[in-house]
Amino acid sequence: MEEFKRGRVPYILCEGCGHRFFYVRDRCPKCHGRKLNVELSSGEGTVYSITEFNGVFYGIVEMKEGFRLYTNFRGEVKIGDKVKAIPGKGRPEFERVA
Ligand SMILES: [Zn+2]
Repeated sequence: MEEFKRGRVPYILCEGCGHRFFYVRDRCPKCHGRKLNVELSSGEGTVYSITEFNGVFYGIVEMKEGFRLYTNFRGEVKIGDKVKAIPGKGRPEFERVA
């Protein structure tokens, strides 16, 4: 997706209840509304949880806009670290903001 190349992370905003979520679904998981818009996140967030597997850190990032997504990190991160999306071509990866 073009957005990832600029480090922006698309998400879905429900018009009915204002709920924001990452995964593409045909209905809002909260109010089951179908008026869903694609918005672009700043790409900034905070590490919410982490798991390490073979030296790679995976986990959930709570984005500035208030939705969460599962991702992998470049380098080591701790819970509570500020992170940002790395511009790339596929799904978002995150690294710690210095
Ligand atoms: Zn909704």
